Amino acid sequence: MLPPDYHMHTPLCQHATGEPYEYAITALKNGLTEIGFSDHAPMPQDNFDNWRMSYNQLDSYIDSIIQVQKKVPDLQIKIGLEIDFIPGCEDWIRSLISRYSWDYVIGSVHYVEPGWDIDNPGKIHLWKKHDINEIWIRYLELVNAAAVSGLFDFIGHYDLPKKFGHRPTVDLSAHHKIVLLNAAKTNTAIEINTAGLRKTCSEVYPSADILNLALESGVKIVFGSDAHSPDEVGFHFSEALELVKSLGFNSSVNFSKRNTTEFKLF
Ligand code: ZN
Ligand code: FE
Ligand code: FE
Ligand code: ZN
Repeated sequence: MLPPDYHMHTPLCQHATGEPYEYAITALKNGLTEIGFSDHAPMPQDNFDNWRMSYNQLDSYIDSIIQVQKKVPDLQIKIGLEIDFIPGCEDWIRSLISRYSWDYVIGSVHYVEPGWDIDNPGKIHLWKKHDINEIWIRYLELVNAAAVSGLFDFIGHYDLPKKFGHRPTVDLSAHHKIVLLNAAKTNTAIEINTAGLRKTCSEVYPSADILNLALESGVKIVFGSDAHSPDEVGFHFSEALELVKSLGFNSSVNFSKRNTTEFKLF
């Protein structure tokens, strides 16, 4: 049985296509028994950027998924949120979390400095102005702070800076070990995000060597396609399963109202 796909978007974020109902139908077609929506959460200012829902759309986001739960009873459909972790925004994040009884919340780092979301293709030129290793270290410090905060159920796309092929030229395993030990301590899982297979980096987030460290640290895993259109639901899950099997993982976690249960993968 395939694990749940816990990372998918809706048109409310302004850069995803297809209705939640279509994602659900595709999930069933692809043999999934459980999915979860986790659209980009609002920021304190609605004009923060142009790739998320606004604050007053949160209710219709939740309602639209509840409608699909009713329409597609054969599928378990969870309601989550992908929240940007930015230091200083912890109170905002807490208020988002307390606003609804989410099944899970994802903590993602996209911004490494004000105005630079490193995965934004429109800002790829900013990479040229920065030292790649420095950005990686800064990014990992932010992911570490997200893990330490204990606010999130799992970390999204753990090694996102590799998206466009920007690889560190120094060994960052010491940094990874710190992040992963903190994640284990706060019971924050990490996501095997298959969207990386659709990008220049051509591999899942995070890479196999980081997943090895995660296994050593006792960090739990979940799976997500980061679907921004219905055809991406469950994207290359069998490939991701083969990878984690070869590394020695045998289970992932499922979420319900922010409680975890073990999901036997093999
Ligand atoms: Zn997105
Ligand atoms: Fe993201
Ligand atoms: Fe996403
Ligand atoms: Zn994402």
